[in-house]
This record gives sequence, structure tokens and C-alpha cells, in this order.
Amino acid sequence: MISDFRADLHCHTNCSDGSDDPLALLRLAKQTGLQGLSITDHDTLDAYTPELFAEAEQLGIRLLTGIELSSELDHVPVHILGYGYEIENCTLKPFLEELQKRRKERNREILKKLTEKKLPISEEELIAFALSARSKRTIGRPHIAMLMVHKGYVSTPQEAFEKYLKEGGLCYAPGIKFSPKEAIDEIRKAKGKAVLAHPHFLKKGSFLRKLLDLPFDGIECYYAVLHKEQERPWLKLAKERGWIATGGSDYHGALKPHIPLGCSWVPEHTFLQLSTRDS
Ligand code: AMP
Ligand code: ZN
Ligand code: FE
Ligand code: FE
Repeated sequence: MISDFRADLHCHTNCSDGSDDPLALLRLAKQTGLQGLSITDHDTLDAYTPELFAEAEQLGIRLLTGIELSSELDHVPVHILGYGYEIENCTLKPFLEELQKRRKERNREILKKLTEKKLPISEEELIAFALSARSKRTIGRPHIAMLMVHKGYVSTPQEAFEKYLKEGGLCYAPGIKFSPKEAIDEIRKAKGKAVLAHPHFLKKGSFLRKLLDLPFDGIECYYAVLHKEQERPWLKLAKERGWIATGGSDYHGALKPHIPLGCSWVPEHTFLQLSTRDS
């Protein structure tokens, strides 16, 4: 019998920037006919509660631990997926706390620059605003942009980015980012597999070569609603390097309605490769 196992290994909940709560996402996975799922929220493990594992079991959905870590190489954002890490006493937790701490410091720096430009916003104000928006998303520039509109400093969030917040803007602060290598090391330390996310979007040339020299376990070949043609070079590369060819939709719910859950997926073999822990 041909197995009809399909697992979507890339999706977001309202613990980061998706719209669905984790339990609702599991139910949607079931309705969609998926047998396996990995939730890969940006820089947080918050979706992985005991309730989530219990509901997955109840629904008969196989759950693989996942995360999408933010890193930066030569000022270019690079997303690294981590799969199959241990959730008990997860060593990613202190790493994520450090990441949050750095974010807070960066926000403070941006607010300081805005205040110097006679556009004062206090840290307390920013936190209260983000909470009132019931946003579980890590506080960052999008919140600052919305608050600037709210305070009448600019007319639209786009204007806030264009004038002040974008890289090179008047009040931009880069913050201190982790490198892709550090992200890979952290995933490995937690006994997970490190995968380069959506390589299709990265600029070709020396930057990409440098990135692909890193010790990944896999690469995300199947992605969202891309065409077969776009998958091919990455599948070839995975084969050459002996990397696991992973895939998923990058579902964000109502926030990206053109991307349905399960539009990219992997078979059982791949799911098992990512679930297996070395050592
Ligand atoms: P942060 O994580 O604080 O650096 O903010 C990153 C987020 O800001 C991105 O995910 C986008 O949603 C948003 N963003 C970044 N650059 C721009 C831009 N030029 N215009 C509008 N939104 C942007
Ligand atoms: Zn996202
Ligand atoms: Fe991403
Ligand atoms: Fe994503």
C-alpha cells in the first residue's frame, strides 16, 4: 500500500506572527488531512504545551518539535529551522531568553533615538501598547511603527518605516544578532536537526556559498506554493550534500490567506529522519 502520510513542517501560530492558536492549528491540520505537523514559530517554544501534545495524540496527528530561529549573516536576515529537539529541559530556552534580552535592548535604543528626534515614546508605553493590541508577537519595529501612528507622529506604519525605522532610517538600530552558525549550534546542542529555511529567497553568489558552507542537517526544498522548477536546484543540492530535503507551507493563517496549510509537505521517511536523534 502506498502511504498517504503527509506532514507540513513549517507553520506559525499566534505565539509568533500567525493568527491561529496552536490547538486550532492542530484541528485544521486534521481537517486538511495531514498526518504530521511541526509548528515553527519565530524564536519561541510557547506553542509546545502539554495540552498541545495531548490534543495531537487525541487527533492522531504526529507532532515534531520545531522552531524558526532568526539570525543574520553580513546584515542579511537568515532563518534557520530546528526540528526534533528535546522539549524536556530544552536548552534552547536560555538561548531564546538571551535573544529576547537583546531585542529589548535594541527597542530601547530605537526609542532613545526617536526621543532625540522629538518623537518621545517610553518603554512602558510601548509594552502597554503591544499588550493592548493583544499581540503575543515579540515586541519589535512593527509595534513601534503602529504606536507612532497612534501618537500622530506619522500617518501610516509604512511612513514610520520609510523615514525612521528601516535599515538606514533616521532612528534605526541594528541590535546584536546571532549568526547562522550560532543558531545551528544551539539547535544541535538541544539534540535537534538544523535546516536552512526557504533558500529560494536568498541572493545567489558569494553570500549564499558562504552560508551553504555551514554544517546544516537539511534544507527546505519544498516551500509554500512554489513551482517544481524552483524546488529542483535545492533538491539537487540536498542530494549532493547528503542533507535532508524538508518542506512546509509557512502557513500564517489569516495574515497570509493565499498560503493554505499543507500546500507543501514531506513524506513519512523525511518526518522520521528529523525525529531521530543522533547519540
Ligand atoms: P524587527 O523584528 O523588530 O526587526 O521587525 C521586523 C518586521 O518589521 C518584519 O517582519 C516586517 O513585518 C516589518 N518590516 C521590516 N522592514 C519593513 C519596511 N521597510 N516596511 C514595512 N515593514 C517592515
Ligand atoms: Zn512569520
Ligand atoms: Fe522565515
Ligand atoms: Fe516561517
